[in-house]
Amino acid sequence: MQDNEKVKKQERADRVRQRLSQLYPNPPIPLDHTDEFTLLIAVLLSAQCTDKKVNEVTPELFAAAGTPQAMVELGQEEILRLIRPIGLSTNKSKSIYKLSQLLLERHQGEVPKTFAELEALPGVGHKTASVVMAQAFGVPAFPVDTHIHRLAQRWGLSSGKNVVDTERDLKKLFPESSWNDLHLQIIYYGREHCTARSCDGTKCGLCVELYPNRKKPVVWNKP
Ligand code: SF4
Repeated sequence: MQDNEKVKKQERADRVRQRLSQLYPNPPIPLDHTDEFTLLIAVLLSAQCTDKKVNEVTPELFAAAGTPQAMVELGQEEILRLIRPIGLSTNKSKSIYKLSQLLLERHQGEVPKTFAELEALPGVGHKTASVVMAQAFGVPAFPVDTHIHRLAQRWGLSSGKNVVDTERDLKKLFPESSWNDLHLQIIYYGREHCTARSCDGTKCGLCVELYPNRKKPVVWNKP
């Protein structure tokens, strides 16, 4: 990539950051929770499921069991019954039960504060661990979901083939102090404006601002 292209990409990133912080100042955490443990469980439940749906089932689940000890006592079958409306509920109930046991065995019932320890828990991948590190512990992280992956491509900030590439590219373009807010701001923008196939890159202000010379509608190769 030539130097002037790099500058343009950095300029686009800076504009995205400015615009999104105006649109979504202090973006709220979308998953309801009361502490690190309930956040971890809510994030685990949100895999391939909407935050809205997760927020519908967690009040009853957390009223029944808001700690790892109480979750183990509740048992896997009852966890499954309470989270049944959520996709992949059987696997998720197993993960929640086993994860709660492991928190008691390995971490004195606390949620660990490192990526390695979090990612060693069942049902917890890098994205879930990143959300917990960012939102529970304030550690800079850039969890990349499908909205962020799509928008990074459409705004010309990454041509990565997968979320790992996209995370690496975005971390280079944005200051570390902005990551935790920015990942939420991009998700909010994506949900509001930029769904899978609904746009040709000319509809909303941000793309127009980033690509003022765009004459023709864009056909995206990827959803
Ligand atoms: S113009 Fe279209 S592609 Fe660009 S951000 Fe807006 S909705 Fe998404």
